[in-house]
Parts: sequence; C-alpha cells; structure tokens
Amino acid sequence: MTDIRSMLPEELEQAFKDMGQPKYRAGQVFDWLTRGVSSFDEMTNLPKGLREELKNEYVIPMLTCLKKQVSREDGTIKYLWELPDGNAVETVVMRYRYGNTVCISSQVGCRQGCAFCASTIGGLVRSLTPAEMLCEVLYSQLESGVPIGHIVLMGIGEPLDNFDNVMRFLQLVNHPKGMNIGMRHISLSTCGLTEKFDKLAAYHLQLTLSVSLHAPDDETRSKIMPANRGRGVEELISACERYYAETGRRISFEYAMIDGVNDTPYHAELLAKHARRVGAHVNLIPLNHVEESRFEPSKPEAMKAFQKILKDAGVNATVRRKLGGDIDASCGQLRKKLAEK
Ligand code: SAH
Repeated sequence: MTDIRSMLPEELEQAFKDMGQPKYRAGQVFDWLTRGVSSFDEMTNLPKGLREELKNEYVIPMLTCLKKQVSREDGTIKYLWELPDGNAVETVVMRYRYGNTVCISSQVGCRQGCAFCASTIGGLVRSLTPAEMLCEVLYSQLESGVPIGHIVLMGIGEPLDNFDNVMRFLQLVNHPKGMNIGMRHISLSTCGLTEKFDKLAAYHLQLTLSVSLHAPDDETRSKIMPANRGRGVEELISACERYYAETGRRISFEYAMIDGVNDTPYHAELLAKHARRVGAHVNLIPLNHVEESRFEPSKPEAMKAFQKILKDAGVNATVRRKLGGDIDASCGQLRKKLAEK
C-alpha cells in the first residue's frame, strides 16, 4: 500500500494518468487531503468505483490526538499525537507577535544524545514520514483553529538525520496547491550534522538554518553534545560559512545557557568570534530544566553579562521569550511522561 499523503500533486497526476483517470481527479484528491480528510469515502466528488480502486492501492495516514494541553499563561498549545503505528510525537503551537508558529517533531525519539535534552533519553525509535510531518502541521491547525503561518523543525528528533523525508515534507507543505507555507517562514534546526550542510545548501531553499551551537569550543561542546565528537567546532563553523556563501541566507545560532557550563566570558568571546565569521544571529535561551539532568539554567546576571559581551563585539543577540512553561512545552517532555506510564 502506498502512502498517498506523502505524494506531491505532480506525482498524483502521473499516478492517475497511469490508472487511466483524468488529471483533474488528482487535483480533487490533493484538495481533500489538504482539507484533512482521512478516508476516501469522504471524497464525495469522486465516482464510487474510483474510491474503491484507490482504497485498494493507497492508505491515508492520520494522527489521533492523545493529549492536548493549553497554557494559561500565553495560550501555547501542546499536542501529543498518536502515529498510525502507535508511536507518539509532540507538536507545539505558539503565538508570536510575527505570527502563529507550529513546532514539529521529525523523528520518534532521537539518537544525538545531547546531555541537556529530554528527547534523546530513550534513543531513536524511527524517523517520521513526510505525511506524518505534514499531518502535524495540518491537524494542529484544524484542531486548534489557529491559522498556522510559520513552522520550526525544533521538536523531537534531528531533521538532518531524516534528510530525504524532511525535504519531501518541505516540498509538500510549501506547495501552492497545498498548505502553501512560504520557505521564508520555515526554520530547520540541527545539532550540526555537517556532512549534510552542502547537500542542503544545494537545494537553495529560502528557509532559515538554525544551528544548535550551545558551546563555542570543542572541550565544552563535545561534553554536552556527542554530535561534536569526530566533527568539531571548526568543521561546523566552516560548514556554516559555506552554507551562507552558497544560499545567501543568514544562519542563526541557538545557545541554551547552562549554569557554570557554557556561560562564562571566555565562552561569550569565542562565540562572538564565530558569529561574526558567519554573520550569524545568536538566540540565547535559558535552559529548560529537565528532570533527569544535572544541568541548571544560567543565572539572569550571567545571561545579561554574556549578552553584553556579544553586543559589544557587534553581534546581534536576543534572549528568546519562554512560552508554555506551565505545560512542559519544551521538547520531549510529554512523550517521555507517556512512555513512563
Ligand atoms: N535536533 C535538532 C532539533 C531539535 S531540538 C537540534 O538539535 O537543533 C530543538 C532545540 O532545543 C535545539 O536547539 C536543542 O538544543 C534545544 N534544547 C533541547 N533541550 C533543551 C533544554 N533542556 N533547554 C533548552 N533548549 C533545549
């Protein structure tokens, strides 16, 4: 059986042509899928015979809502979705001044092993299909009634470890006949799988590449992010340089501030040097406390001093506003709680 939701309109047209069907039928089916239907019987403008034929060849993957939490502080919504095979992933809907943003997962679990992250605790189960990622966006919008304008791939998983499916998802969600979300409204976050950077740059997508840097030197970074071992900060920064040169798109560095680990003036100065070299914008994030972890967020004074060093060095640095603190909105926490039950 073929997953019909992972197919692009052009591929559907070809498939319908091969079935001896007119092209407009493919358009009708893609339309229904974009409206969120989960069965061929709901596609009422298709002849019954065709619906039966489709049922024999295709499946329509869908998500079921296992849990929904709404923050009383800021309206952030967090979903725990059940996938067709019984696994679960999280999706968060956030309201920023610039627009409504959905944060989606790209894998069930993660194998990158970052020491401060809740998503990696059980390892990687599997990667998500393009359809499943699309459904995270589509069903979050339909269920919440919040029109989604922006997407960040910052939920559970490492998008560059699921490269082909993520590329196809981006084509689907960006398609003018589908949800039509602009590439400039999409951010892809990576822990730095540098071997994929050139491959990504070759697509010349207008999305924003966010690099989870979290430490500017090998000693600190390899301690908290195993992905740094065998690659190294220098390799990462030069990959960023090449990415910027090839795409003309500014990279942003994510930097979760951890008390006594990566928040000294030494770290700030080295970070400033890297940021200037690639023209990167720096997002400082107070670490979200994860139960299993010994790490604590940096003190506000340390964050201020850190930000000042960056600003004095001419680097654009902002402190990210924390949303959904009362609903465990940071990644991996809800799925982990489910697994523990
Ligand atoms: N694997 C990708 C995307 C998912 S993580 C990546 O590493 O970028 C999304 C972001 O949340 C990353 O920047 C990640 O480092 C950060 N993050 C993970 N755990 C965190 C925590 N406890 N506090 C703050 N940020 C965290």
